[in-house]
Amino acid sequence: MAAETQMKISDEVAIEIVKMNKWYGAFHVLRDIDLTVYQGERIVIAGPSGSGKSTLIRCINALEEHQKGSIKVDGTLLSNDLKNIDKIRSEVGMVFQHFNLFPHLTILENCTLAPIWVRKIPKKEAEEIAMHFLTKVKIPEQADKYPGQLSGGQQQRVAIARSLCMRPRIMLFDEPTSALDPEMISEVLDTMIQLAEEGMTMICVTHEMGFARKVANRVIFMDQGQIVEQNEPEEFFNNPQSDRTKLFLSQIL
Ligand code: ADP
Ligand code: MG
Repeated sequence: MAAETQMKISDEVAIEIVKMNKWYGAFHVLRDIDLTVYQGERIVIAGPSGSGKSTLIRCINALEEHQKGSIKVDGTLLSNDLKNIDKIRSEVGMVFQHFNLFPHLTILENCTLAPIWVRKIPKKEAEEIAMHFLTKVKIPEQADKYPGQLSGGQQQRVAIARSLCMRPRIMLFDEPTSALDPEMISEVLDTMIQLAEEGMTMICVTHEMGFARKVANRVIFMDQGQIVEQNEPEEFFNNPQSDRTKLFLSQIL
């Protein structure tokens, strides 16, 4: 794509996962995950339902604990030490399928809450930052409304703006368009494309393979708790290696 030249990948490691394993009780949900993500990479994670995609990205910002192996974010080891968890969460933004906005707060308040209370930014400055990012996602005029008054696509753009207000170095997206009506998907994808073009390091779990082709520099295929295959999009789609990847692609494309 034309913007490809702007989307530079640096030598700097953003996330380093080594032999990471996770269990839910007796269920071994992630198996020997090895993954190094460089600053500026746009990674799409694909795979069947239940393959562990959400669990993997939730482990990266410590919404889930892992039991074996290691995860480093910007050089900080993610352990059960709460100090590191706070540091990592402040650098890693996350956007969920179901927006997760606070329904009783206005759009502006949704965006300023964490900057004021977690980052200790003065209210007026937090509001200026919030308006900057609401303008970026093209809904500054909605600032005083409540989430319930917005469409799904608008709410998801607020969720992205709210994350950006914390100035993350990495953004994680977990099926951000799966709960949206079809006509709203592109407005959210356009926002994500814009972020990618600005150099944000992104990991996106998504079934939007058009987005993967256009934006990702690497597609990772997961099945049954493992990374089965990964490649640049062109190779991944045109020349899948494993039978599981071929089967998956034949079902979704
Ligand atoms: P995906 O996002 O690829 O659909 P998930 O990471 O949500 O997969 O889930 C992977 C597997 O772990 C599934 O079998 C799911 O049922 C199971 N699982 C997810 N969350 C939990 C949980 N909190 N407790 C127990 N099992 C879970
Ligand atoms: Mg999931």
